Amino acid sequence: MSEVSDAAFPGLSNRLLRVRSGIEEACRGAGRSPEEVELIVVTKFHPPELISALAALGVRDVGENRHQEAQAKAEALADLDLRWHFVGQLQTKKARQAARYAHAIHSVDRERLVDAIADDDRTIDVFLQVNLTDDPARGGVAPTELERLAEHTLGAAALRLRGVMAVAPLEEPAASAFERLAGYSERVRAIAPHADAISAGMTHDFPEAIAAGATHLRIGSAITGKRPEPR
Ligand SMILES: *Cc1c(COP(=O)(O)O)cnc(C)c1O
Repeated sequence: MSEVSDAAFPGLSNRLLRVRSGIEEACRGAGRSPEEVELIVVTKFHPPELISALAALGVRDVGENRHQEAQAKAEALADLDLRWHFVGQLQTKKARQAARYAHAIHSVDRERLVDAIADDDRTIDVFLQVNLTDDPARGGVAPTELERLAEHTLGAAALRLRGVMAVAPLEEPAASAFERLAGYSERVRAIAPHADAISAGMTHDFPEAIAAGATHLRIGSAITGKRPEPR
């Protein structure tokens, strides 16, 4: 199978292997078991064929950040046993549709979004995205609002609150940002002990995220290669 993938996407299987061993190494360094860490391959802007190739290499969890693109890919690849993770900013009016194919939504940052995705009968995993900057445009709930959003999410029967999510700010070392995120995770666990997941870590900062306790890594370009321009 890996030869098939490599013919269409040269180097894909090697990059996946390299990232997997990088994850194992970072886990060893942090005294953690690699089994505590789930890899989500972020495939945004790449064609469905690349996702099929990843599936043939054993990838089951894929991440997308734009609703229309994610929806089209989820439909085109419905016969593969994939779990779709929505990781981008989500408009409230698109949220109900996203809730039809998403296994998890990592970018829940406001009560209206909770209400919109909880409207569907399907059970969906939810991560509360926390803004680690002072800039509201970056997406994510302000830390001061985190408990309230967690309580609101717990009130939605169709949603399974898994934990917190964040993107490291550009203007700060990832390690200190992820330390803060670990503190926010503790605050959520104080009201929802089962919500112990931390979605953090991308191509350039996943070792720091693992050191700070990340359980769900969202890694794109290190595996897929350079992203095409968005269509
Ligand atoms: C694109 C994206 C990623 C993956 O980024 P890479 O740097 O390519 O690993 C992870 N999380 C989010 C929210 C993204 O938008």
